Amino acid sequence: MTLINEHYLKLKAGYLFPEIGQRVKAFSDSNPEAMVIRLGIGDVTRPLAPAIIKAFHEGVEDLSRNATFHGYGPEQGYEWLNKVIIEKSYQPLGVELLPSEVFISDGSKCDSANILDIFALDNKVAICDPVYPVYNDTNVMIGRSGEADEKGYYQGLIYMPCTEENGFTPAIPKEKVDIIYLCYPNNPTGMVASREQLQAWVDYARTNQAIIFFDAAYEAFITEPGIPHSIYEIEGAKDCAIEFRSFSKTAGFTGVRCGLTVIPEQLMALTADGEKVSLNKLWHRRQCTKFNGVSYPVQRAAAAVYSNEGWSQVKETIAFYMENARLILDGLSAAGITCYGGVNAPYIWLKTPHDIKSWDFFDKLLNECHVVGTPGSGFGPSGEGFFRLSAFGSRENVQEAVRRIQRNWGK
Ligand SMILES: *Cc1c(COP(=O)(O)O)cnc(C)c1O
Repeated sequence: MTLINEHYLKLKAGYLFPEIGQRVKAFSDSNPEAMVIRLGIGDVTRPLAPAIIKAFHEGVEDLSRNATFHGYGPEQGYEWLNKVIIEKSYQPLGVELLPSEVFISDGSKCDSANILDIFALDNKVAICDPVYPVYNDTNVMIGRSGEADEKGYYQGLIYMPCTEENGFTPAIPKEKVDIIYLCYPNNPTGMVASREQLQAWVDYARTNQAIIFFDAAYEAFITEPGIPHSIYEIEGAKDCAIEFRSFSKTAGFTGVRCGLTVIPEQLMALTADGEKVSLNKLWHRRQCTKFNGVSYPVQRAAAAVYSNEGWSQVKETIAFYMENARLILDGLSAAGITCYGGVNAPYIWLKTPHDIKSWDFFDKLLNECHVVGTPGSGFGPSGEGFFRLSAFGSRENVQEAVRRIQRNWGK
């Protein structure tokens, strides 16, 4: 009889979004006339920018001719893409990278999960609570944890509560950890980390020979000056950090699929015997064996994000979403609801009125306002009593959702 990976059985109640989908479907089936507004799942809604579409088409055209046909590309991405990313996205921050330090992929969800391949199971892993569920669940799947307790904490993983009291920036763990996941601007809380806060993490990591996994999927949404866009803006980070970026939210690539992972050449970790090994080389080996690169037209489309035309179009769409975020933030605050985030990230993290539980608020919002959001508790026990709204809707939907919430919940 074939045996399964039983670590999967430890996972609690499916992935958050299928549960939301089921509740929305049940509601819509029994209320077919209700105009449901979805501000739940973190997916973009606006089409790709014209300059990106043009490059995408050109990439496809290239494939139709003998002279410009492309088969397998480099597993790490075409060098022209790596180079333009470095030049346009890192050098302006004062960060120098080599093309060999940038690995193009089909998205940062996969990368942030797959990266676990190159690390030993007995590393101690710290994640935020609430958190992007992928970090938690992939560690459970690979067998780094025991069972979940009744609160939802998996034995063996270290949780760093992000609460109203600590401004949603967690304290550095007291125990020694080997891998720390950080995500700024943060999903789900929409909060950012200051240069000083990130410096403290980098200092901790270097002192303790730990590695930071820095998820910068939302860096393009930062509007305030002085907030770091990359962990490598922090002194010493190249010795201790891997950075994940994505075209998904930045440029509307959630369905197109392209992301990147940066692993500096100098970044090392140890064998059990204490020998230093390059993580860049290990990841390179891993990708060459398990991955065959992102499709050529997609990489052409990704490169177009950095053209003058492409970037100004992309910035316009981001500004559109951030205006939605402002409308939600202002509208709900005016209704007396305490809100966080929404300034440097497309998410508003609201405190449920009257301390209602997250899922109860979900049901109330769906039934009374026909608005779908995401229960904070779905991102971790410390998310209980909070609720995430996303700014990725149309302007009309966002305005209508705010009106409905104000009507129902306004003082
Ligand atoms: C959306 C998102 C990503 C992007 O994932 P892709 O696989 O690149 O689409 C990564 N991290 C976080 C926290 C996200 O919310």
